[in-house]
Amino acid sequence: MVLDGLGKSLKDVLKKIAKSNTVDEKLVKEIAKDIQRALLQADVNVKLVLEITKEVERRALNEKPPAGKTAKEHVVRIIYEELVKILGERKEIPLTRQTIMMVGLYGQGKTTTTGKLSRYFHKKNLKVGVIAADVHRPAAYDQLKQIADQVGVSFFGMPGEKSAVRIVEEGLRAHSGMDIIIIDTSGRHALEGDLIQEIKDVANLAKPSERILVLDASVGQQAGPQAQAFHDAVGVTSVIVTKMDGTAKGGGALTAVSRTQAPIVFIGVGEHLEDLDPFVPSRFISRLLGMGDIETLLEMTKEGVSEEEAIETTKKIMSGRFTLREMYDQMEMLTNVGPLQKIMSLLPGLPGNVQDKVNVEEMQERLYKYRIIMDSMTDAELDEPKIIKSSRINRIAKGSGVEAKEVRQLLQQYNNSKKAVKGFMGNRKLRKQLMKQLGGQNLEGQM
Ligand code: GDP
Ligand code: MG
Repeated sequence: MVLDGLGKSLKDVLKKIAKSNTVDEKLVKEIAKDIQRALLQADVNVKLVLEITKEVERRALNEKPPAGKTAKEHVVRIIYEELVKILGERKEIPLTRQTIMMVGLYGQGKTTTTGKLSRYFHKKNLKVGVIAADVHRPAAYDQLKQIADQVGVSFFGMPGEKSAVRIVEEGLRAHSGMDIIIIDTSGRHALEGDLIQEIKDVANLAKPSERILVLDASVGQQAGPQAQAFHDAVGVTSVIVTKMDGTAKGGGALTAVSRTQAPIVFIGVGEHLEDLDPFVPSRFISRLLGMGDIETLLEMTKEGVSEEEAIETTKKIMSGRFTLREMYDQMEMLTNVGPLQKIMSLLPGLPGNVQDKVNVEEMQERLYKYRIIMDSMTDAELDEPKIIKSSRINRIAKGSGVEAKEVRQLLQQYNNSKKAVKGFMGNRKLRKQLMKQLGGQNLEGQM
């Protein structure tokens, strides 16, 4: 996905929140710093970064979570909302009869994006015609013609013609039966006078309802001034940021553009014609943050395991019940430092020398994954894991978005744990000792 680096650092921030004991000033300050670092690395403007993290800090320290929400959930929500805010409003290009004109500097992706857009409208069952009005690059005619043929939309061009206005005049006539007409124009290395005049003339003639600026994400924060300059020249109505797949600077481009008047409507995420994503700020951020996963994580860490729960789980295990649920509870206990020590004294020798070896971080990661996998299992499967054969494994993997291999790992771990528990239960002396510590409740009879 685009902006992998940023996504990963932000997810780490949310995990830190989920794993913390309480939301206090120290934690809030720490996560504000982490977010700052992550955004700066993605090339977001320093001033903007300071603004947003200050706002996150202020809200996290002052706002009370709404009813039914924990402080952790609320802080995650604040971060999400503030990130969405810096990307601006969502805009969609209406699926109505219209003329669209593409503008932008040389090499930014105008022609490619003309093809992508024509494919987009074509798929929505609109009749699309494109016009090759780049009169400066000799190869531009062939490039667009080839793309139009590939997509299956109408093409108009006049090879050798030097006047963009003439081409557009003829093209509009030729495409008069079309629903959507897209005009691809020339670019330059910089926004020069003759380019401005040319796109102004074309705009005056075609009266396009959309004047779409195409911008390469790798220009980073420079996207802001560039968008502004084109806006002053022809009144940009929408922006498409291309090459989001190939640069860490995408964060800079997106946020810089969103501060100008023209909203981002699509992002280009590859060289192929289908590599065009509608830009929906809220969806973009929730994907970046892995929101679905985060909710699971938060729910799981809502409250730590209490001592009573730890004892309860141990008793269940002692009574001979050991399903996936008990294994999960047992692992959860082991990741929880307080109950961990308690339970270690309760369970001498189970499992192995785990006291010294438990890597809490790693165990939490694994638990987190297991939780997601187990959420895709039926009650019957959770209670009786041995019924889980390969077709069920595939279904569970699909449902939880993991690989089948990972479901098998969970089952493997279950089998190992079950064996360890059995071994322990077979040791009469250890069992007696544990029983005494548990308060000697009537467990003996159940075993
Ligand atoms: P124009 O001069 O503005 O018309 O730019 P072109 O459409 O000819 O594109 C310039 C180069 O950028 C071409 O090699 C395209 O394949 C490439 N390109 C365009 N959009 C994207 C994108 O979203 N991702 C990637 N990776 N390459 C792109
Ligand atoms: Mg071009």
